[in-house]
Amino acid sequence: MQIKTRIALQFSCIVVTILVTFSLVIYFTSATYRQEEFYDRLKSKALTTVRYLLEVNEIDEDLLRIIDENSLTALINEKVLIFDEQNRLIYSSAGDEVVTYPKGILNEVREEKDIETVYNDMELAGFLYEEQHRSVVVLAMAYDRFGKSKLRNLRNTLGWGLLVGLSVTVGLGIFFAGQSLRPISKINEQISTITARNLRNRLDEGNRQDEIAQLAINFNQVLQRLEQAFEQQHSFVSHASHELRTPLAALKSEIQIGLRQQYSADEYREILDNLMSDTDRLISLTNNLLFLARTLENISQMPLENVRVEDVLFLAKEELTSAKPNFQIDIDYENLPEAETETMVRGNEELLKRVVLNLFDNACKYSKDHRAEVRIRTDERMCTVTVKDTGIGISKKDQESIFQPFYRASNAVGYEGFGVGLSICRKIVELHQGMISVSSRLHQGSCFTIRIPHL
Ligand code: ADP
Repeated sequence: MQIKTRIALQFSCIVVTILVTFSLVIYFTSATYRQEEFYDRLKSKALTTVRYLLEVNEIDEDLLRIIDENSLTALINEKVLIFDEQNRLIYSSAGDEVVTYPKGILNEVREEKDIETVYNDMELAGFLYEEQHRSVVVLAMAYDRFGKSKLRNLRNTLGWGLLVGLSVTVGLGIFFAGQSLRPISKINEQISTITARNLRNRLDEGNRQDEIAQLAINFNQVLQRLEQAFEQQHSFVSHASHELRTPLAALKSEIQIGLRQQYSADEYREILDNLMSDTDRLISLTNNLLFLARTLENISQMPLENVRVEDVLFLAKEELTSAKPNFQIDIDYENLPEAETETMVRGNEELLKRVVLNLFDNACKYSKDHRAEVRIRTDERMCTVTVKDTGIGISKKDQESIFQPFYRASNAVGYEGFGVGLSICRKIVELHQGMISVSSRLHQGSCFTIRIPHL
């Protein structure tokens, strides 16, 4: 069932229940009130009659009948019967006309003293009237034509009102439900046109305020992230193939040279050395690609531990300087940490070392003096590490892009590298709830900053 129909149905059910309950209460209250009022009228009239009969000596039976005939309303067919102790009829307002009444009612009245019942569609009130030495039974009955016709009128009005109310409610329910769900249908239509090929399409965000607009806004944000991810993946694949092609082409031409003619053993050794360094380049590149593609996806399963930042820095320094002894790394505190925990972070030592290694390597690689100045700074929340060099620097424009995979600034072309290191660094730092940034001036040097929350 469509939501629209369900809402309309639920809405109608609620309104119908309220309307029906309300109408029933009104009808039955009016019916009870009519009956009670009618019994009261019957009794008070009968009481007057019996008093005239028994207490006013000047009024005899015939005079009383004349009074009754003139005061009882013929329309409602009212009759008053009075019976003595032996249940003999001593007075009937109907004169000689035979008036029937329920069998046994006289004894019942004597027992219960007061009775209200319905007989032949007429209201019948009976009561025991006791006066000094006499106790007579008085029966009064009549048909409440006016009351009943008013009640019938009320029933019809309520019935029709209910029917009209119900149709209006169902109609309005369907209309308003459709109206308020129309934006959802519109969103549905728009979503069904979005495929991997046109992720650029966006949903109409309407008034940007209600829940449905919020849904469209959130969906658009998801689309934007998807589009970015798709684009990144696309550029990643094209960059990766481009980067792989260069060393492969170099390998091929080396081999072609080797095959072209006979060489001396030394010349073959030189060719093999070249092949070796190109193969190393390929291995290093594929390792980086694998790391980007696979390891970072499963990173949430990496073991986390408390890592001391200084340890990571010194380990990375040792590893780098033993591989490249001409690199020089100077590590120091900018301020002395107030507590040991200020330089402890929750993370993975191997991954953090990879970040630091890349920053050290870049700083030394891109500067003539091959020197990096590393400083540790802490505050109540964050542990900050800056890696500064006085190298070639990065232009403002390039600073925005160097964290993208495979991006290399034009002034870095003569230097070894594939342009994937910083993108790996950024992912790792973000996974540690930290951030990485750069400030740099061309030909003057660069300063990379990592900020990670400490324990
Ligand atoms: P790679 O150094 O292998 O090219 P990275 O991802 O580490 O890759 O760096 C991306 C780019 O950022 C580099 O190609 C270079 O243009 C620029 N870069 C990074 N670090 C520095 C630095 N310390 N000085 C100047 N440029 C840098």
